[in-house]
Amino acid sequence: MKSRRSFIQKSLLSSLMLAPFSRKVTGMGISSESFIEKPISKPQVISTWNHGIAANDKAWEILSTNGNILDAVEEGVKVTEIDKSVFSVGLNGIPDREGIVTLDASIMKGDGSCGAVAFVRQVKHPITLARKVMEKTPHVLLVGEGARQFALQEGMPLEEEVLSLKARKAYNEWKIKAKYQPIINVENHDTIGMIGIDAAGEMAGSCTTSGLGYKMHGRVGDSPIIGAGLFVDGEVGAATATGLGEDVIRICGAFLIVELMRQGRTPQEACEEAVKRAVAKSKDVNNIQIGFLALNKEGAFGAFSIQPGFNYAHHNSNRQALVDSKSWF
Ligand code: ASP
Repeated sequence: MKSRRSFIQKSLLSSLMLAPFSRKVTGMGISSESFIEKPISKPQVISTWNHGIAANDKAWEILSTNGNILDAVEEGVKVTEIDKSVFSVGLNGIPDREGIVTLDASIMKGDGSCGAVAFVRQVKHPITLARKVMEKTPHVLLVGEGARQFALQEGMPLEEEVLSLKARKAYNEWKIKAKYQPIINVENHDTIGMIGIDAAGEMAGSCTTSGLGYKMHGRVGDSPIIGAGLFVDGEVGAATATGLGEDVIRICGAFLIVELMRQGRTPQEACEEAVKRAVAKSKDVNNIQIGFLALNKEGAFGAFSIQPGFNYAHHNSNRQALVDSKSWF
């Protein structure tokens, strides 16, 4: 593990790097940007991982025609929820250890309105269900059978419970190899979290996942927990998380980042501080991954992860890019 001193030096260095916006193109993505604090234009949207590119494209269709950020973050991640090549979001996702896909999602606006669903089965678009919880109920979080019943009540048809071929194959292999133990490592997860700001300066975020692969039945991660996987305060900014949910919940990751920005940290500094806290609390830091994204109301953004390998998609009027995040290790 990097020493505290080298981490502080690194943080100081990155906050002092006020060179013009620069980037290097490496393969599919841009290598970590040396300067990502400079406010860029509104609107803009940022999403975790490379599946964020297609999600951002959809969000951008809305944002670039003066649409609102709430519609953009919902419609954007809906693309990922039905993408058959993504095994960490939506019903194509890797199942739990009973072979059942259970989904978690949350959505939040800058005014504090929020909604979430967790441990929900057979729902094609959990993010839409989360939005309905926010807009049509007095509650914030519906789980399990109650969430499924609410979907039906709202006219959202339930899908058949059939594992995708790839998920079934992976599950069968896991059953042989893993002896029914959930695998807690840097793989087996990749939530989409999206945060953005529209032309009017309104902010919102969304987060949706099938959660940790081969989790215990009933396990819920950080993604539907407001303040852990997602938090938005229009007065300050927004943050979202991906990675091992248990370790994000322990530090109230997204809330922590927004509060650090409220106290004056840049989005980049806030993400780095949150990773530092997660590292300090983790029992097995070498084998876990967490990645954070943050955006402030001025339009500056930041990203940081524990392990290398975390990337994010960024879309504004100047560019559409996949960027490698800086990391603790
Ligand atoms: N954060 C998610 C969870 O723990 C997993 C992920 O990011 O892929 O459920």
